[in-house]
Amino acid sequence: MKGISSDGVLVLGETKCSGAVSDTVYELSAKARALADSLKSSAGRRHDVNVIMMLDEKNASEADLGRIGQYGADAVAVVRGDGLPFDRAKCAKILALLAKKARPQILLASATAFGRSVMPYAAALLGTGLTADCTGLEIEEDRGLLLQTRPAIGGNVMAVIKTPNHRPQMATVRPGTFGIPEPVRGRTAKVMEPEMPYIDDSVRASSFEPFNACRAALHERDAIVSGGKGLRRAEGFELISRLAETVGAGVGASRPVVEMKWIGYPHQVGLSGQAVSPKVYIAAGISGTVQHLAGMSSSGKIVSINRDPEAPIFKVSDVAICGDLYEVIPMLIERIEKRKRGARDDG
Ligand SMILES: Cc1cc2nc3c(=O)[nH]c(=O)nc-3n(C[C@H](O)[C@H](O)[C@H](O)COP(=O)(O)OP(=O)(O)OC[C@H]3O[C@@H](n4cnc5c(N)ncnc54)[C@H](O)[C@@H]3O)c2cc1C
Repeated sequence: MKGISSDGVLVLGETKCSGAVSDTVYELSAKARALADSLKSSAGRRHDVNVIMMLDEKNASEADLGRIGQYGADAVAVVRGDGLPFDRAKCAKILALLAKKARPQILLASATAFGRSVMPYAAALLGTGLTADCTGLEIEEDRGLLLQTRPAIGGNVMAVIKTPNHRPQMATVRPGTFGIPEPVRGRTAKVMEPEMPYIDDSVRASSFEPFNACRAALHERDAIVSGGKGLRRAEGFELISRLAETVGAGVGASRPVVEMKWIGYPHQVGLSGQAVSPKVYIAAGISGTVQHLAGMSSSGKIVSINRDPEAPIFKVSDVAICGDLYEVIPMLIERIEKRKRGARDDG
């Protein structure tokens, strides 16, 4: 790819619903930098970290994109176009084309809705493998292969996967896995717009509903309120949403309630859903199985509401409220609103 050196680590970036660069890009760029440095020590030379961003005309300013350099990226290749980034098939074709030119050893994306839909398609186009939902990435000392760690068999074992025969070695990473390091002030990434050949986009998304997607973009939220089977009926999510609105949180869910179609899959937290690590995670009517914990146990503070004093979720909770959620949540909402009113009156 013109201006982007080959043989290093490529990161597929994305923006938040607001159009700003997503925190996951900073997180992955920093990890990519560490991996590239390990590749360097095994091969004796420096490898670049490049980020690809697919944007519509409004998203992310050049200064915003250049700032990715503070987290370790050398260059950011920007592809702007109608339908991007929502036309995932087109994004995958563009990614595969750019990866064929840049020939990276490693290609990473976050395990967000975007990364999860674009990366498998791109892997098929590139004729390589993909390890989804990794929770650890390292470089193997002797052969310089990417060691891709992810939970397997219902979260009971951690599998370490290698891609010895195909390139690039592709992986998606759960958001929040590595955290975002302090930026290196003064560093900036070179921002460029690579020339793109014609992309056949005869199959196109006919509509997109950004509101719902943003509501479910849980990895962007500082607080999440999740509901489980203890809600007993789909309407229970109205109460969960009221509490979420009161505290400015996103809405999450356990898998059974998603399977019962009480709420959409993008809200599912856990092993087969999203992995999140907000500052505050409130679990209501969720028992706390290992599969649910796999997606939220790294949250800053965990508050749980359950009527069973023996519920496993209490073992990982900072605040455990034993009671009926239909009594506890309205009380919580009332107290929080009262406190907000008090603060407004004082201020
Ligand atoms: C391969 C695999 C992947 C999976 N992936 C996921 C995943 O990504 N996410 C996920 O969540 N699960 C996942 N599961 C399912 C998981 O094993 C559990 O079935 C699920 O987490 C249980 O959901 P729950 O806590 O809502 O329901 P339950 O385990 O039935 O718990 C309901 C809880 O609500 C409490 N309760 C009932 N009524 C009230 C009330 N009125 N007030 C307060 N509390 C009340 C009960 O005491 C109970 O603790 C997966 C399973 C497998 C095998």
